[in-house]
Amino acid sequence: MPLRLDGGGFRLLTAHRVQHNGARGPYKGGLRYHPDVDLDGVRALAAGMTWKTALAGLPFGGAKGGLDVDPKGLSPAELQRATRGVMDKLEKVLGPMRDIMAPDMGSGPAEMAWLMDEYGRLHGHTPAIVTGKPVELGGTVGRVEATGEGVAIVTHEMAAAIGLPLAGARVAIQGFGNVGSNAAAALARLGCRIVAVSDALGAVRNPAGLDVDELVRRARSGIVGHEGMTVERITNEELLATDCEILVPAAVGGVLNAATAGAVRARLVVEAANGPTTPEADRLLAGAGALVVPDILANAGGVIVSYLEWTQNTQNLAWARAQVDADLERRLVAAAADVRARAAADGCSLRAAAYRLGVSRVGRAVRLRGYV
Ligand code: NAD
Repeated sequence: MPLRLDGGGFRLLTAHRVQHNGARGPYKGGLRYHPDVDLDGVRALAAGMTWKTALAGLPFGGAKGGLDVDPKGLSPAELQRATRGVMDKLEKVLGPMRDIMAPDMGSGPAEMAWLMDEYGRLHGHTPAIVTGKPVELGGTVGRVEATGEGVAIVTHEMAAAIGLPLAGARVAIQGFGNVGSNAAAALARLGCRIVAVSDALGAVRNPAGLDVDELVRRARSGIVGHEGMTVERITNEELLATDCEILVPAAVGGVLNAATAGAVRARLVVEAANGPTTPEADRLLAGAGALVVPDILANAGGVIVSYLEWTQNTQNLAWARAQVDADLERRLVAAAADVRARAAADGCSLRAAAYRLGVSRVGRAVRLRGYV
């Protein structure tokens, strides 16, 4: 996809959209903006969305998209042109009953507004074409916070299951973007002490607890490099090894691997990011007695509230925040209970249980449609 640059000239970008499975409903999944985006990574994330929507009981299939660019390296005008360019290339395979995009790493409400506007220019006003829109343009209240708040709800359910009190529990969070910062705020409201957080530029730690509100205010400009907070600067590796009860990887994939997982001290690892734990790290963590809450459950709050946004759009409704929050909590609590019950029945990990549930629900839909 050629992107016209402000200073003249063009840059070639590559965009991908993978529609993995649509047996349960329209394809659904985010659009990631990151220099490392490639087809295989997008394929894996699309498959993850198929199991995630099924696990959450949503009438959607799974898809994912990506653009191989660092959005911080583009001007606002370039970013808008790149985003409209993605829609121009993809509009024929998208649609509110076909494939619905949403934000992911590097994208947010502004990009969703441009995507919706571009689709509307071609097809007429269609708010249900993307979720995660600004509220003024048909987005739902609570979508921005949904993934992080969902992480806190699932953490609450799983901590209770292993007898870990959340009051005073120490939490380390890797990644302080949309998901990490909202998870930090929601976990702090549940009584947790956020002792370490990081972003792409570095990490900060304070065993007595960090001031989450202050960090959120600083998040845009980077959480490190600021004066005035009592913090110790640490590396991202040290963050993963922080002495804490709960570790929340909320940035990129593959960070808990053979080299890093052995140092993890948390009892509960809650996968807010997609794919943060490699299979080898899974074995190491299980061997050390840590409970890993899989991504397709832990971060499902985002797609659940995306579903609520899409539902409102298709009926021209606008729900109150309390209705969104209650529906999100009800669905996540049910999904967490399903996963726990399946893990207990099968004697398997929470990850295996979540996949077994997701895959079997998709399998039933495929059979009922008469494909096998
Ligand atoms: P974001 O772009 O808002 O934030 C990402 C954060 O990670 C930033 O703070 C960035 O500085 C940090 N980061 C990047 N590379 C890092 C590294 N190597 N080490 C430490 N920190 C690093 O993205 P987001 O929307 O918060 O998404 C985070 C993760 O959650 C992704 O894996 C995404 O797929 C997943 N997720 C997001 C949503 C959603 O609704 N946004 C839903 C489900 C899953």
